[in-house]
This record gives sequence, C-alpha cells and structure tokens, in this order.
Amino acid sequence: MSQTATPSGALDLTPAAARDAIGRWIAEHGLPRYRTDQVARRLWEAPVASWNDATELPAALRVALEHEFPLPRLRAETVEVSQDGTQKFLWRLDDGEAVESVLIPSGARRTLCISSQAGCALGCVFCATGRMGFRRNLTPFEIAGQVREIILRNPADKPTNVVYMGMGEPLLNWPAVDVSLSILNAPEGLGIGARHITVSTVGIIPGMEKLAARPEQFRLAISLHAPTPDRRLAIMPIQKKYGLDAVLAAAKAFRKRITFEYVLIGGANDTDADADQLARLARQAGALVNLLPLHPGGAPDLHPTPPARIRAFADRLRNQGVEAVVRRSRGLDINAACGQLRVEMEAKRRQARLASGAEI
Ligand code: SAH
Ligand code: SF4
Repeated sequence: MSQTATPSGALDLTPAAARDAIGRWIAEHGLPRYRTDQVARRLWEAPVASWNDATELPAALRVALEHEFPLPRLRAETVEVSQDGTQKFLWRLDDGEAVESVLIPSGARRTLCISSQAGCALGCVFCATGRMGFRRNLTPFEIAGQVREIILRNPADKPTNVVYMGMGEPLLNWPAVDVSLSILNAPEGLGIGARHITVSTVGIIPGMEKLAARPEQFRLAISLHAPTPDRRLAIMPIQKKYGLDAVLAAAKAFRKRITFEYVLIGGANDTDADADQLARLARQAGALVNLLPLHPGGAPDLHPTPPARIRAFADRLRNQGVEAVVRRSRGLDINAACGQLRVEMEAKRRQARLASGAEI
C-alpha cells in the first residue's frame, strides 16, 4: 500500500492526530470507516505488541498496518522487583541509549515514574542522572511508551498515576512532553486523569508557563531542595539561571495546587532554620511538601539526614501549618532512584570488560 502516513509514526502523535492519519489512510484505501476506530484503539487504549495480535482485523489489513503504522517497542533490558513490590525497568532504545521507569504499588494505587530525557544536563549534586550528563531528548513515543510497555507486559499493572520523576528534566523537552501528556490523558489514549499526572521540574520557567497554559489540571511538582538562593546554588546549578524567587513567582502564577520536592541532605538543607524558611515559602505558595530521604546511590559524597532528624524536620513544617509527607524510600534494595540502575549496569559492564582483559 501507499507511502508512510507520518514520518515519525502514529505513536509519536497525539491520539487525535493519530486517529486523523489513520482515518485518512483508511479512506484512501476504500476501507470501511469503522476500521478507523478499530485500528486507532490498538495504539494506546487497548494496545497490541504487533498488529498481528489485533485479531479482530482482517489478515491483509494487519500486514498493511505493519508497513504503514509500525508499532515500535522499548526493549526491557532489566526488570528488577524489590521486596516491597516496587518494579524497576531499564529500557534499551533503538540507538542504544537506556532510560528507566519505576512502578510503585501502594494499596489500589500504582504510580509509574517515567523518564523524559536520556541523562540530564542540569547536574544536581545528589542525582545519579545528573552525573551522567545529557544524552538526548526522548520522543513522545519513548516517553508514553514506558506506560504502554507496562500494560503490554501485564494489563493488571496499568498505572493509576504517572509522575515525570525519572531521568531528565521534562520541561527542557517540552514539545515531546506536551504530546506525551495528551497521550497519557486523552480518553482515546491511556485515559489517565490529569490530576493523576504530575510533571516534576527544577523550575524551568518557560516550560512552567507552557504547562500552565494547558487547559487540563495536570499537577506540578517543583524540586526546591533548599529554601534560600545560596543553599540552593550549592546543590543545584540551575539556580544561576532560574533563581528561587522567579521560580516561586512562576509557581504562584500556575494557580493550581503544587508540591515542593525536597531531598533531605545531611548538613546541606536539613536544619531547623531551613525548615522554618521552607515552611514560609510553602505557606506563601500554598504548596504541599514531599520530603525525600537522600538515596545514597545517587551521591556517594553526601550523607542522608538521619531518620529522627527527618521526623523533626517534618513536624516543624506541620507545626507551622504546612502539609508535609515523608516519602518512604521505595525499592532501596534495587536502587530505585532516578538514574541509578543505568549507572550500575554500566559500572558492571566496565568491570566485566576489565575482568576479561578487553581494555588492557
Ligand atoms: N528533573 C526533574 C524530574 C526528574 S528528578 C526534577 O529534578 O524535578 C525527580 C526527583 O528525583 C527529584 O525530585 C529529585 O530530587 C529526586 N532525586 C534525584 N536524586 C535523588 C537521590 N539521590 N535521592 C533522593 N531523591 C533523588
Ligand atoms: Fe536533572 Fe532532576 Fe537529576 Fe537535577 S534532579 S540532575 S534536574 S534529573
């Protein structure tokens, strides 16, 4: 059959655009119009690993679809399951890059943490992905496809919530993240409610404005990590470009409930004075505070805040009227913090090469 429908493939389009492309192709080939819906729902709503699995379609159509609308895959290179039920996936992409997702079950809720870039340019000192540097942006398919792959592996694992808190800075890859949000949220896409989708950012202001301009109620999490400009600069180089005051002003303009993410690092941001300053900022912005224990794998030179200090820090926020939650470190036994599985895999490979004498 005829030329390719789109250069990037149907899975890189919003569900509405993909349906249009399929509809045009169906019409061009004189096929019945109801085929459009049958085909389109196989992209995201009721995904198939290959068109051959869409057995409601005639065999000749399935063959034609393989050529016209190929269904790319992310290859699960490693899947690790933690004792607490957390699953961590390392996906190998077509060009050899690798990114991670983490599926965290909690009661009836299944939260999937997805990556938006391979690596990250922003170099926060506590973050394994930051140490890797920037490799490249992910495509819309590579972002939303992390959810698709989970569903293909086991439909019962379909996430109820998605957070853009894996590798990369989502708001530095806005065009692809923009499309991926539509795929996740649209009823004819993955159908995940906008309030159950959270974009996490260090405060890329132009991106925050673009997210705010979308009509859906997507959630925003801001990685604050320090309550004053100088303390923030010591751990997050992005503070030079988008400073705390400007980020907080953009957060207020967002006009939807936001969350502050705050990794507690021993001696760097965990004093009572830090808690008091953070409480003031959170009250001003009407923000919830998520306190994250430092995952040691991300930063060998830094020290996690001891549990008793974490509790005292959280209580101090609550006593000042701030809603604060201490996130449990999920999947500690499988290195489930962003970027760590990939770093570990590469270290293992280097060791294996050294052991086999390949580099000597
Ligand atoms: N770039 C975006 C989104 C990805 S990072 C951002 O920074 O917000 C997602 C979260 O992982 C951030 O809140 C970050 O603080 C957290 N994180 C990174 N390294 C960590 C570590 N070593 N321990 C605990 N949390 C970490
Ligand atoms: Fe990048 Fe986020 Fe890691 Fe900072 S915490 S280096 S912004 S991925």
